[in-house]
Amino acid sequence: MALSPMMSKYLETKNEYPDCILFYRLGDFYEMFFDDATMVAKELELTLTGKDCGLKERAPMCGVPYHAAETYINRLVQNGHKVAIAEQMEDPKLAKGLVKREVVRIVTPGTITSSGVLADDKNNYIISIFYIDERFGLSICDISTGDFFVTEIITSRELFDEIQKYQPTEIICNHAFEISGISLEELKKKYNITITPLDNSYFGEKSGIDILKKHFKVSSVEALGLSEFTDATVASGAMLRYLYEMQKSSCAQIVSISAYKNGDYMIVDTSSRRNLELVETMREKKKNGSLLGVLDKTSTAMGARMLRSFLEQPLINRERILNRQEAVAELFERYIDREELREYLNPVYDLERLMARVVTKNANTRDLLSLSASMKMIAPIKEVLNNCTSGEIVRVNEGLDRLEDIIDIIDRAVNEDSPLSLKEGNIINTGYNAEIDKLRQAKTEGKNWLASLEADEKEKTGIKNLKIKYNKVFGYYFEVTNSFKDMVPDYFVRKQTLTNAERYTTDNLKELENIILGAEDKLNNLEYEVFTEVRDTVADNVNRIQSSAKSLAYIDAICSLATVAYNNNYTRPQINTNGVIDIKDGRHPVVESMLGDDSFIANDTYLDQNKKRMSIITGPNMAGKSTYMRQTALICMMAQIGSFVPASQASLCVCDRIFTRVGASDDLASGQSTFMVEMTEVANILRNATRNSLVILDEIGRGTSTFDGLAIAWAVVEHISNIKLIGAKTLFATHYHELSELEGTLPGVNNYCILVKERGDNIVFLRKIVTGGADKSYGIQVAKLAGVPESVTERAKELIEELSGADIATRAREIAEAAVSKRKPVKRPDEVESGQLSLFDAVNNDSIIEEISKIDITSMTPMDALNTLYALQNKI
Ligand code: ADP
Repeated sequence: MALSPMMSKYLETKNEYPDCILFYRLGDFYEMFFDDATMVAKELELTLTGKDCGLKERAPMCGVPYHAAETYINRLVQNGHKVAIAEQMEDPKLAKGLVKREVVRIVTPGTITSSGVLADDKNNYIISIFYIDERFGLSICDISTGDFFVTEIITSRELFDEIQKYQPTEIICNHAFEISGISLEELKKKYNITITPLDNSYFGEKSGIDILKKHFKVSSVEALGLSEFTDATVASGAMLRYLYEMQKSSCAQIVSISAYKNGDYMIVDTSSRRNLELVETMREKKKNGSLLGVLDKTSTAMGARMLRSFLEQPLINRERILNRQEAVAELFERYIDREELREYLNPVYDLERLMARVVTKNANTRDLLSLSASMKMIAPIKEVLNNCTSGEIVRVNEGLDRLEDIIDIIDRAVNEDSPLSLKEGNIINTGYNAEIDKLRQAKTEGKNWLASLEADEKEKTGIKNLKIKYNKVFGYYFEVTNSFKDMVPDYFVRKQTLTNAERYTTDNLKELENIILGAEDKLNNLEYEVFTEVRDTVADNVNRIQSSAKSLAYIDAICSLATVAYNNNYTRPQINTNGVIDIKDGRHPVVESMLGDDSFIANDTYLDQNKKRMSIITGPNMAGKSTYMRQTALICMMAQIGSFVPASQASLCVCDRIFTRVGASDDLASGQSTFMVEMTEVANILRNATRNSLVILDEIGRGTSTFDGLAIAWAVVEHISNIKLIGAKTLFATHYHELSELEGTLPGVNNYCILVKERGDNIVFLRKIVTGGADKSYGIQVAKLAGVPESVTERAKELIEELSGADIATRAREIAEAAVSKRKPVKRPDEVESGQLSLFDAVNNDSIIEEISKIDITSMTPMDALNTLYALQNKI
């Protein structure tokens, strides 16, 4: 048995797109067959039927009506699938033989443009990765807005940082990337990304250069600023080719490309980005509750995306920071202008995404009208901006095009009350196109001609109820009821007989019918044609429109920062060059806004590159240590995006990186233990922090035994504070009060604690940071506050008393000393009664004893003692 011709055609197409679900247009439905059908029916809960396909068994089939297809496609794509859409390329009525069908578009997670899927305030990125010789060339694109960036990086950690930064929905890569040691499965699972390795032919250097040159219409890639970005050029070539193939279009919305180096912006690694909750909260992944949630008072979707990108890439060039800050300061001061700007920005639609629809020929009349309505806001916005003098605003204003010619074309051409369909006419204004006007006249006059013909014939024939009527099958006809049948003249030609009437036509009527019906058809077609011409003209101006869109986005983002600064009482920070972080009355922007009143207690921060490099912060749980440290990091971050900061005064240096190691979050998904994750992050900090970095460490060493934990924390403090090794400005919160001993011993290390007040058996949190170490940890009181039953807290109190004096560092020293003085056993308090032996009793190893006897206890730090002891213990 052979496959039916239709089915073999289907399979031919399916074979061209093996990794896609094929939506095959059959009349009013998109149908899926075989495996696609079985899978989709299950995933979208559609009924699975069958179709005769020529073989013994029917082909499994399911389908969706064409008008509802978008919702189904969106769902599949959001689940990570790719959907290829095959349309009928000719009218089935006119087709000779099989209707010609072609794939017109492929929708993938990273190339979808449906507004039903995309979040307004977030870009939808696809990343192309070219891996070669342990380097990565990256190309990053949002096809819905035309944004296009490239960069190059070296380590896989940096790669993860970039992925975390952009949060792409899709990655394409070369085959070498699959074997680069990075697990694609892990990437897929962890970040919910669709990953497609592409054939090596996509990743050629020459082909990449050619594609870029052609796309951007330049003679060399140097003109695009890519001379030092060979790997990224290759990645971009692959990206553009992939996008062309998916979209089946020239992707004209991509009008520029910008390259950056890893050091051009502040480096914020994946875990710090998450910990500091810059653009979303750690747990719920919501914007509300993040720094962006506080700072985003933008009026447009474009502005919201721009502000997000500010936070994704804080600046490190002092001049750029100051320029942006100056713009914010100007709008901060010009209250009236700012409010006026916000009012004009409010009705501005998403020009970037509308333009993407225009250039891909998907825009309808409403889209063009939205474009024009938005563009009309540019003139008054420019009026307001003309008052401004800050360099950045002046520059943006100069580049902001009023686009009056485009507004004019759209407004003259497109009918404000157009129907949704583009094919039913009435979409072009009268007066725009002479031919359309003529046809319209013919249409209306035709109706008058019909009326007079009807009157003429009525008089001539004497048939009183003679009427001209219309239906789709027979067109125009005279209708004569049976009682007047006899009066019908010869030149009436019968068309149809009904039970109570006859229908006729005449030569005159036929002629009129041709004119009228022809005019209507012609009119609708012509209107559509003229509309597409208007749309193409708008598309030809994509560069101007996109760049004005970016300018509006920028103004909106700056306005937002100024508004928030004003409403929340922020201050303009100085950006110093002497490596000092000096914050007076700093507040945590998010916690403060959550409290919603003035109850947040402000605190100072001072860190420099000399005597105050590192603050060791102690204090009970819940005292506010994390809040304090994060607020310092966030304030620095805000300053580097050009924002004002929550403080009464601030002078800040530029940080090259901000590292945070906060809390012990399990990374169960990747199968790593808490401690392993913690140590990997610590290792990253120790390797990459510089003197100009800000490091926030919260409770490191918690994931292991107290002994190991303290030892590690101690060694980390020594390493980071050492100016020859790192010397980064560091805030270090810890439970190990022993670390307070480092003040005075290690240069640059100082103790701070957060005050609490004892009130009988309870404590009150004062939230104030002061110099000095905390003497108690108040664990029991905090446990009580948290609702741990009294029987347990009472028992814990008893135990504390029993164990008191068992301070680990002192004990360690005691043990070591005892060991050296020839194994005089030291008993732990709880061993005194039971008569258990200390571990040294059991040791009878001469080499160990000899080693111990060589130790010079008097010159040892407690840390050395611990380390030595640890090493010795391992030898037993
Ligand atoms: P720790 O890290 O010391 O355990 P946190 O920083 O998590 O404590 O603070 C605990 C809670 O105390 C926070 O959730 C916050 O609501 C509140 N808090 C912290 N600092 C302040 C402050 N300066 N003013 C007001 N409330 C604060």
